[in-house]
This record gives sequence, C-alpha cells and structure tokens, in this order.
Amino acid sequence: MTPNALPQRLSSTIILALAFSAPAWAKTPVASGTGGAVATISEPASQAALSILNKGGNAVDAAVAAAATLGVTDPFSCGVGGGGFMVIYLAKEKRVITLDHREVAPASFQPDAFAPDGKAMDFDTAVASGMAVGVPGTVRGWHDALDRYGTMSFKQVLAPAIKVATDGFRLNDNFVALAKENEKKFALFPETATRYLKDGKALPAGTLLRNPDLARTYRLLSSGGVKAFYSGKLAQAIVDAVNQPPVAAGVSVRPGRMSLGDLANYESRWRQPVRSTYRGYELVGMPLPSSGGVTIAEALNILEGFDLHAMPREKAEHLYMEAARLAFADRNAYLADPEYVEAPVAGLLSKEYAARRRELIDPTQAHHHAQPGDPYPFQRDLSVPLRPASAPQSKLLSESAHTTHLAVSDKDGNIVAYTFTIESWGGSGITVPGYGFILNNEMTDFDFTGPHPNVPEAGKRPRSSMSPTIAFRNGKPAFTIGSPGGATIITTVLQTIFNHIDLGMDMPAALNAPRISERNGLATSIEPGFAGSAQARALERFGQHWDDAGVEEIGAANAIVFNPDGTVTAVSEGKRHGVGSALVQKRGH
Ligand code: GLU
Repeated sequence: MTPNALPQRLSSTIILALAFSAPAWAKTPVASGTGGAVATISEPASQAALSILNKGGNAVDAAVAAAATLGVTDPFSCGVGGGGFMVIYLAKEKRVITLDHREVAPASFQPDAFAPDGKAMDFDTAVASGMAVGVPGTVRGWHDALDRYGTMSFKQVLAPAIKVATDGFRLNDNFVALAKENEKKFALFPETATRYLKDGKALPAGTLLRNPDLARTYRLLSSGGVKAFYSGKLAQAIVDAVNQPPVAAGVSVRPGRMSLGDLANYESRWRQPVRSTYRGYELVGMPLPSSGGVTIAEALNILEGFDLHAMPREKAEHLYMEAARLAFADRNAYLADPEYVEAPVAGLLSKEYAARRRELIDPTQAHHHAQPGDPYPFQRDLSVPLRPASAPQSKLLSESAHTTHLAVSDKDGNIVAYTFTIESWGGSGITVPGYGFILNNEMTDFDFTGPHPNVPEAGKRPRSSMSPTIAFRNGKPAFTIGSPGGATIITTVLQTIFNHIDLGMDMPAALNAPRISERNGLATSIEPGFAGSAQARALERFGQHWDDAGVEEIGAANAIVFNPDGTVTAVSEGKRHGVGSALVQKRGH
C-alpha cells in the first residue's frame, strides 16, 4: 500500500467526536479489601482484570486481560508487538514460576548489527528501524501462561480489551505528552502518524481514540489462538513491516531481516526464579535474561549488613545509593542471556560476595564510579563458569525508560507480577499495517559494541531490567512490586523495598516517595522538584550529586500488599504517569 493511501483508509479509525460519550474512568490509586486485587497504570486495564476476576477467572486470566487492555490504552509502552516477563505464584502449591517471553534476535542477526563500521550507530537511528525489532514474544507468553495456569480462553480474556479498542477511550495528558515526545519518530511511519498524530502533532487530550485494527487482531487471536499470530497473514504482515518498513515518502530507515521461520520458531521459557533473603523476607524475582532479580538481590545483600533502622534517613539513603552503584557495576559487566553466556550468578547472589562489596562503601562519602567485583571465587559449586578472556567492562548503556507493570491477585491467593514492553516509548515507531499495534525496538537493549556478554547474536535475548518481584514472609506472600523505566526499573523496585522495609513507610508512601536512581553512570537520576529539596541537600553532604538533565518521572510502579489480617491493599502511583488505578473485588476492611 502506498503511504498516500493510508490516511484515507485509517481516517475512520480515529474518532475525534468529543460528543461521543466514553465511560468515565475515575481513578483510585489505593484500594483495600478482600478477594482479588489489581493495580495497573490504566483504569480500563484494571477494570478489565476486575471483570475477569468477578467472572471467576484466576490471577493469570485477569493479568492477561489487563495486559491486553494496556495494549489498547498504553500502546506506546506495551502490546503484542513486544515481550515481557511474568512471575506467577500458585497459592495451592506454594510455588513460584517465571515466564520469559522476551523478544529474540532473528536468526539473521549479526554481532555488528548496530556497529556496521565498528562504531556504535546513533541510538535514535537504531531505534526507528526494522533492524531494532525483535521477534515478538507477548502473544506466545499470554498463550503459555493461560494454557498452563489460566482457566479461561483467549476469547474470554481478550473480550474487555476488544471492547475498549472498539468503543474507544479518551486520551489523557500523559498519553498526549508521550505522543508529543514521539512526533518525529511517528512521522516517519504513516500508519503510526495517522493513528496518533494530526497534521504532524499529537492528538489533543480528551480525544476519543478507537483502534478497530487492534480489535481485529485480538479477534483473530480469539478465534485462531497463538498460531494466528505466529503464522499466516499476520505473521507475513509483521515480516513485511520489519523487512520493508512502511515509511513516509522520502524517508529511509534501516530494514530488518526477520523471516516467517523466526516467528514460527519463537518460544517462551519457563524459568526458575531468582531467590534471595532480606531481613526476614524472601524475595522472588526475575532471572536472566532480565538482570532485575540478580541486581536487586545483590544490592539488598550489600545493604543487609548495615543497621539502617538505627540511622538518620539521609545516611540510610546514601548507603542505598552506594549499594545500587556497586550492584550496577556488576550487572553492567556480567549479565546477559543465560543461553549464550555463563554469567557468575551464584557468586553475585552470595552473601559472602556481598560482604566483600560492602567493604568498599564509605558510609560518609559517595564513590563516583564503581568497578565490577570478582564474583567467581564465590560461585561455590563445581560448575564455575570460565572467566571471560578480557576484563569485564562495566558500562551503562544508553537506554530509554518505558514499559508497563501490573500486579494481580485472586481470591485464592494466586499472584501475577507482570512487566511487559515494546522498549522505547512508541517502540520502533512501526505499526503493522492493518493490525493496529506497534513493533518493539528491543534489539537496542543489546550492547552495540563488544566485547561484552550482551552483544547481539542470532536467536539471543537482549539483557533486560524488568523486575516483577514477589516478597514472602514466614512462607506467606507479603507484597508484590514492579515498575517500568528501563534500567531505572531496578532502582525503583529496590528503593521501594528499601523505603518499605528499612524506612518503615507503608506501601503508598514507599511508592510515592521521590525516586533516586543510581546506576553507576555519571550522576544519579532524580525527578523534577527533587534538586534543592532538604532531602537532596542532605545527600549532597555525602558527596552525592545529581544528573541535572533529570526532568522526567522515574517509573510507574504497581504493588499489592497482603496484610496480616487477610485483607489486600492494591497500590498504584498517586501522582506519576497520570495516577494509576488500584481495585479490589470487595472494598473495605
Ligand atoms: N527494554 C527495557 C528492558 O527490558 C524495558 C523498557 C523500558 O522500560 O525502557 O529492561
């Protein structure tokens, strides 16, 4: 189809009629009660999960319903064009299992994909390209989760999302801000520009946006199942969009080389979670290829040796930042897809190794750059991986900070913590023509140049930061937490746990507190309004300093607390990302 034909065909898909009345979504960021609970960043998504719980669905059914609806209302963060990580707690069996449905590099992918002349290419050029697109894993993940642990069909769980895509939803300020940020990228791809821009500018807040193409895609899955995505016409449309990106006249972007075989062969992975302990809690998180679980565990192991409770807040926060810095130095150096790289995970998770790392912290003075440590002597088993031939590099990748996270629990105590993404806001920018979803740019999560464990390779999954986490106490669920935000995901989850357990904040306060993200880069990321505050000045006295480009919110976390009296409290953002939506099946204590 020529680019010129697109606007006409799609014009009926975008309804600007403000007179049409969409459901009024009133958001509540905190809700307590009994039965199932859900927290997402989108009211329609939380409502979708609740409706599935009320129909007798379990947490897995409800999580997929919420995720599919987020694909409609938050199409710049997530959707069937991307991938994700799900942590599932099965109450009856007291078992946690994780589902990796991360995008993989097509079989044609080469290590120099992002450095054709030996030099890393410009990040934004790499993002808006067919080459940035990994084989999407989301639909396979939803299928596998439902198939093994759900009770409902695609048809049942996709129904609420199909309704929102068909009836439309009103754009809020947050949506508009994200579309504005993407005007340049979306303008490259008419199918995307037509849907989300008008005369090259983001649609105004209050616009009623429908996505009948995505409703059709979901209906295809409802009737044809997972195969309808990974083979046939839809698969061909994905391959075409990747290999010949449908660009505006005069635009050229780098094509990818994805085949129908890449889609047909895509597999998710059931993986054992990363387990660690922290002050009487057991934390269960996402293993590689996400670096989230290991890095959070290492930082907490380092922090555990300090009596944080007895300290002034600023000193405890200084130590939190230093622990994060050290854990990130290791994360940046060692972690990558475990099917391609023997990462020294047991060493990184060992309490003895953490004790060595802790010795490097000066309780009165910030380090400005930490070197990776040597975890190999702490592997303590016979399967010690070979040390890499060259000293590990510890670099912080240029990466963007997006995605979405949702938390669901059901009346039987099953829990799902689910983070999924299309990588950058607006992914690669490429909408699959006629199918209404944007393709990811997950391949830019690889290191562009090596040697490094996380360089591109055919069939490899790029290292992630996604950190869906469940915490247990005395064998019972205590809380679950997760967030979007690229590598800041790790610090958001870590800091919220630290705020809650060490600073004694209740979960809403822990989640709403200003976020401080130290990732062993040049300076610490902070949010608007933090610099100059008493809290910031107190930390500056330890030599901490801030990235003054820090003008964005960090993360958009969602949590559920399982209270000792048997009630549940769903907690979403009280301020960030346009306020989140927390719901419980039966309100009140
Ligand atoms: N691509 C990121 C990751 O896997 C998530 C996207 C983001 O939040 O920026 O860690």
